[in-house]
Parts: sequence; structure tokens; C-alpha cells
Amino acid sequence: MISILGIPLDENSSFLKGSAKAPQKIIEAFHSDSTNDFSENGINCRSNKMVEILDPLELPSGELAINDIHNATFKELEQGNNLISIGGDHSITFPIIKAHAKKYDSLNILHFDAHPDLYDNFENNPFSHASPFARIMENNLANRLVQVGIRTLNDHQRAQVDKFGVEVIEMKDFNHDLSFDFDGPVYISLDLDGLDPAYAPGVSHLEPGGLTTRNIINIIHSLKGDVIGGDIVEYNPINDVNDITAITAAKLLKEIIGRIIKSK
Ligand code: MN
Ligand code: MN
Repeated sequence: MISILGIPLDENSSFLKGSAKAPQKIIEAFHSDSTNDFSENGINCRSNKMVEILDPLELPSGELAINDIHNATFKELEQGNNLISIGGDHSITFPIIKAHAKKYDSLNILHFDAHPDLYDNFENNPFSHASPFARIMENNLANRLVQVGIRTLNDHQRAQVDKFGVEVIEMKDFNHDLSFDFDGPVYISLDLDGLDPAYAPGVSHLEPGGLTTRNIINIIHSLKGDVIGGDIVEYNPINDVNDITAITAAKLLKEIIGRIIKSK
């Protein structure tokens, strides 16, 4: 079974709240009659006994919320399910990966984002949405971390990239011929601000010069490895225009579902 879980947490968002309202909007777009049930690789994603939309988490705050996200993730994995989480801000990815690392001992993470999210300490909040991949790497939870679409590296984050051996494909070096080749399980963490604001205006941190929707779909389709789970984070309905970002998130959700089912 592939479980789809809304995680409405935005308290670790540093600049703008609002992504807590994202899961409901993305699930609505996923069910919208404006499109049909199928991913591009031919999988029926909506009327499929292998896909279950769970009730969104009801969360406390602070470290208790982080623990609840970890426990909810681990429960799904223990039952033999794959999990795709709908954020929420990017802080949710640390506890999600912590749970995955208990099941998969050589986890690869493919991370789409404008930002590397590697701050050692951002505003004294260890769970900041600017820091999940620092927490993941310092706890040795990933075999490889490959970041795509990055266009905001500062000196501190470059030092963090070197310290943790992160493989960064900066947006300035991105080209269509790149191949993504992984040994073993691949987890996709998709921050929607990795997309150019022209494709996804509904995010908290608009960072021009980014990926196209097509770039991300093509990478999801063509990457080598077993896709076992993922998250879609940082949708912020406050900044959206004509629901385009919700619809884009729902489309990418279908493509990740289709890819997980094909990988099985
Ligand atoms: Mn992020
Ligand atoms: Mn980002």
C-alpha cells in the first residue's frame, strides 16, 4: 500500500506561515475532475486499491510534533506501506527520514529545492525548515544526499555541503542531460520552491531562476533506483495564483505514486 499523509505543520517556517493549509488544498486538487486518474507512466493513481489517503495528522507543537511525525511515519513503514507526505514546511522531513532510516540502512535522498536547508543553527530552532538536511546528515541517516535546483548557497552552507559530502547540482550548472543513478532505495524530498516561481508561485520563499515542472517530472521518470517514498513540502496557498501550485503539487504527487508503483 502507498499511504498519503497530510502533515499540516508550519511553525518552523522562518519567513511566512501558511503551509499548514497545504495538505487539504493539494488533496482537493488531486481529486479534481479537471484531470483524470492517471500518471504519465500509465498508473491509475486515484482509483487504485494500492493507494490510500490517510486522515491528516493532528499535531501538538515543538518537539512533540516532531516526535509524532516520526511515530506516524514509522507506523506506516512497519505495516509494510510506502509513505508520501504532504507538508507543511520542510521541517517535517527530518523526523520522516529518521523513521525511514530505521527500515532502510542505505537510503538515498533526492532533494529538489532552491535552498540546501543545511543551516547548523537557524534562529536557535534546531527543527527550523532551514535545517532538516543538517539534522539528517549529522545523524548519518542517509547514504547519499543529492540536491537539485539549488540557487541560494552562502558561505556557511557551502561549508556544510563540504562537511557532509552533499552532492549539489546548483541551478546554474543544471542541464537536461544529467542522469540520476542510485544504488538501492531512493526517497524524493520535493520542496516546491525548487520550481521557478513562474511554475509554482504558491511558496513562502520565491526564488527566481529555478526548475521547470517538466524538468522535475522527467527526473522522477528517468532516475535509476527504487523509489520508496517521498514528501511534497512548502506549498503556501497564501501566495498561490489560480491554484496553479496546488495543481502542480497534485500532478507531482501522481508522478511520484506512479514511480513508486513502477519501482515495486
Ligand atoms: Mn526546503
Ligand atoms: Mn526551499
